[in-house]
Amino acid sequence: MSDRIPCINPRCRRTASSDKHPDSAEIICGKCFCCLPASVRAEHRRLWRELRKWERRITRTADDLKANRMRRVRDRLEDNLNRHWISDVRPNFFEPGRPEGLASFLEEVGFGTN
Ligand SMILES: [Zn+2]
Repeated sequence: MSDRIPCINPRCRRTASSDKHPDSAEIICGKCFCCLPASVRAEHRRLWRELRKWERRITRTADDLKANRMRRVRDRLEDNLNRHWISDVRPNFFEPGRPEGLASFLEEVGFGTN
């Protein structure tokens, strides 16, 4: 159980213990998390908070029927979190097309014309 999970940033060498993140293939370390746009950070935090809240509720209830309903809510939140990770968190560390942006910038300021 001493496996390490790498940070999502390919230029970052940090890892996390897989004991703490048993279901994750990748994590984001605190340092890289701070580099994300504020709106992405806020949404990620919000989803995590919701997920934890439901997990606490599930462990507290003695009613199986209720617990099952709550598990479905939790599963949906987990899906949202995964989707948000793929669509909003990941792309910040994998940016294709940057050279293209530079080329069009040079064109705008007068290079490449005439
Ligand atoms: Zn990192």
